[in-house]
Amino acid sequence: MTDGYGRTIDYIRISVTDRCDLRCVYCMPGEGITPVAHGDILTYDEILRLAGVFADLGIRRVKLTGGEPLVRKRIETLVGGLRAVPGIEEVTLTTNGVLLAEKMDALAAAGIGGINLSLDTLDPDVFARITRRRMFDEVMRGFHAALAYPQIPLKINCVPMGEEGQNAAEVARLAKEYPVHVRFIEMMPIGLGSRFAFQSEESLLRVLAARYGAYQPYEGRLGNGPGHYYSFPGFLGKIGFISAISHKFCDSCNRVRLTSQGYLKTCLQYDIGTDLRKLLREGADDRALREAAAEAIRRKPQSHQFTETVEAHREPRAMSQIGG
Ligand code: SAM
Ligand code: SF4
Repeated sequence: MTDGYGRTIDYIRISVTDRCDLRCVYCMPGEGITPVAHGDILTYDEILRLAGVFADLGIRRVKLTGGEPLVRKRIETLVGGLRAVPGIEEVTLTTNGVLLAEKMDALAAAGIGGINLSLDTLDPDVFARITRRRMFDEVMRGFHAALAYPQIPLKINCVPMGEEGQNAAEVARLAKEYPVHVRFIEMMPIGLGSRFAFQSEESLLRVLAARYGAYQPYEGRLGNGPGHYYSFPGFLGKIGFISAISHKFCDSCNRVRLTSQGYLKTCLQYDIGTDLRKLLREGADDRALREAAAEAIRRKPQSHQFTETVEAHREPRAMSQIGG
């Protein structure tokens, strides 16, 4: 369907849990998190029912996120269930990779259509500082497990965040040596993210050009999202940027989000949307759910205002509760 500004909405990010096995400093506090009660989180049956409603409204692609989606038990059964929903054409996943080596075979068997692996540094000590967990080796095992399925596209997402020794240019090397695209995501001022500076695309491109040589803009399309890409000489994959602040892409936004508690959220920045869990658990039929979701999508905000101080409807959730 189209929203009130004529944008086609065909992509949803579904968060399946607020829990995570890492504690990235820009996403979650180190201590003192009260997890959402299990009973408040949508069951797989509830997610599948809503997915049918979204598919009726024209959603074609689903990205599973979290928290960390792989900490939710038997996530592969949800992948398989979503793949069977008429109208849903693709189910992909974004993960921190800690459990990926363990889960990759089951995800592949369930028909996962792509994996985004979040990896901010290739230095194990810096990784431990950024994520507050010493789990770099597990993540690299996950990376190689995913590479063993060349038919399943693998992308690396890195958020340059000014941590000493992070070395984003070193992360880009993965696209030189392996058939993966590496994307740099600008830090967004949501929750703890607002404490960090973002590194602009232009400054990082200068560093990459000095190290890897002259690049060319890549004109093809990769993936469902707002990334744009560059080719570097001799690289097997592309280098991408998702620059929500410096290259605002709200005009072509194609997405909505469902939180793990069943709130349909229509813009990353705002607490605007509708509580579908409430309707579901009050016994609403599919038509009522469809109407509520459609009405929320029609009211999707025109754009984010991250660079301005907007207090009305400002998102109070942490990124780990939204799913990125
Ligand atoms: N745990 C999974 C992971 O890390 O991929 C899925 C959830 S995580 C919230 C999704 C993505 O959001 C990650 O790539 C993470 O780096 C990114 N992220 C978290 N906080 C952010 C922020 N303030 N600005 C930009 N990206 C952020
Ligand atoms: Fe967990 Fe992902 Fe947030 Fe890191 S970015 S704390 S891995 S949810």
